[in-house]
Amino acid sequence: MAALLSLDQALELLLRLADEEPIEEVESLSLVEAEGRVLAEDLIAGVDLPPWPNSAMDGYALRLADWQGLPLPVSQKIFAGQAPAPLQPGSCARIFTGAPLPDGADCIEMQENCELLEDGRVRFLQPLIAQRHIRPQGQETRVGQRVLGAGTRLGPVQLALAASLGQAQLGVRRRLRVALLSTGDELVEPGLSLGPGQIYNSNRVLLGGWLRRLGCSVLDLGILPDDLQQTRARLLQAQAVDLILSSGGVSVGEADFLGQVLREEGELELWKLALKPGKPLTCGRYAGVPVIGLPGNPASSLVTFALLARPYLLRRLGVERVQPLRLQVPAGFAWPKAGSRREYLRVRLDGGQALAHPNQSSGLLISADWADGLLEVPEGVTFEVGERVGFIPFSELFG
Ligand code: AMP
Ligand code: MG
Repeated sequence: MAALLSLDQALELLLRLADEEPIEEVESLSLVEAEGRVLAEDLIAGVDLPPWPNSAMDGYALRLADWQGLPLPVSQKIFAGQAPAPLQPGSCARIFTGAPLPDGADCIEMQENCELLEDGRVRFLQPLIAQRHIRPQGQETRVGQRVLGAGTRLGPVQLALAASLGQAQLGVRRRLRVALLSTGDELVEPGLSLGPGQIYNSNRVLLGGWLRRLGCSVLDLGILPDDLQQTRARLLQAQAVDLILSSGGVSVGEADFLGQVLREEGELELWKLALKPGKPLTCGRYAGVPVIGLPGNPASSLVTFALLARPYLLRRLGVERVQPLRLQVPAGFAWPKAGSRREYLRVRLDGGQALAHPNQSSGLLISADWADGLLEVPEGVTFEVGERVGFIPFSELFG
């Protein structure tokens, strides 16, 4: 029997395939429409941010050299959105947060440290410090600086940064088009009644929803019965897509019709991964279109999508950092027996410790609902209670 492929090797192979077929078409979208999409070109600052020095506080602006420990008269009031006059020598200016600093001022004191005297002058109660509470011009970015790199995924922070630079539209990669197939004679869609031996199709909802969250447009090809003719016919419908993603039908020994069609009419590689859950994976091509076949067990589908299909999809869009964030968390249980496959446990963080769901069966989704994420137990590793182990929050994976 051939050696198992490590998860790292499988990911490397998939990312290499993704790099060979990047999505290159670009569309220009408004900031609202660009949410969740991938930036196609570097975003270069066309302005300094902030464009002029301004106040970080509500208070008084002055020239430090004018202050001899005596109160100063107030010569102007500057609100945010106003253009100030140059500071009159020997005076201070009332200033509010975000208002431009008047020429000649080099210090701001916050109003809490000032006393407004009855004659209208201001006494400064604490020693003053040059440049204090001034946000200098260009503190955030300078004209010409690269603010966001091509391949950045656009979330609220990145879109707000683009907005702060005055950008109304962004060039983003077009959506990936993914044909989704659920294979298996036993599958029935929710809402219909179950016959003997049948189960409801949950992977369609799991994978379809997840793909859409990743910004893909999904061509849902429904349930594919375990039948050669129908498999051929259905694959022909997967037109003009960037990927065919299937689940089920990759277990050893099963009548695997998707595999048979790919082998005869396309390309097929069957991978046995050193991974639990999620050992078998199909990687192939049909009519030029890449195919990834995930195992059918819901938890196996989840883990293989999270760790292999998701990074592959993001890389097709030009995303550089496709790996989810891994945190180190103390284990709330011991792992005395090293495994030969890398294992992903559905765990919940409780009191700062990772607790494993008692049932880690690959057939279960309910433990994934209970869990906050996946604990990554590398092959050949044991650990004690309290030792730190890699943890991937679901929030990292589902976005
Ligand atoms: P397979 O990979 O086809 O051998 O399927 C492995 C297990 O996952 C079997 O128990 C299947 O019934 C189940 N399964 C396959 N596809 C789905 C699906 N779309 N939804 C829920 N369970 C599935
Ligand atoms: Mg099956």
